[in-house]
Amino acid sequence: MSDCIFCKIANGEIPSATLYEDEQFRVILDLGPASKGHALILPKAHYGNLYEIDEETAASAMKLARKMAIAMTKALGCSGFNVVQNNGTSAGQTVFHFHIHLIPRYDNDNVGLSWKPGELTDEARDEIVTEVKKQL
Ligand code: 5GP
Ligand code: ZN
Repeated sequence: MSDCIFCKIANGEIPSATLYEDEQFRVILDLGPASKGHALILPKAHYGNLYEIDEETAASAMKLARKMAIAMTKALGCSGFNVVQNNGTSAGQTVFHFHIHLIPRYDNDNVGLSWKPGELTDEARDEIVTEVKKQL
């Protein structure tokens, strides 16, 4: 993907503040951090989103998220940690190269990742369970 900014960053064509790098991934600091230490896991290969990434790479990315969360928590002294991954414009995705947000959390920080809980009706529950199971 010659016009993808995260392809260029992940592969070192554009410099970035890199926390970690291996053959498959680069972990960089987000340029618009939600909190101190907000970082992104970028695969070096291009996948648009979670629907496109293969199972093995997705599993490796989550293993890396765990490793980074442990190291970053020790380094930054945060008191919690969100792992966030957006797919599609409606879900807040703005860069269409798969990435995982690593968001250190601090008491009384101003990060907003909450929603107003709705209600799960019996009808909705039954329909959702039936329809999703059909697709698996
Ligand atoms: P999304 O909204 O797609 O889940 O997240 C995209 C993230 O990438 C945002 O948090 C944004 O701040 C970050 N971002 C966008 N462009 C760049 C860039 O050129 N460099 C870095 N380090 N982060 C970027
Ligand atoms: Zn890309």
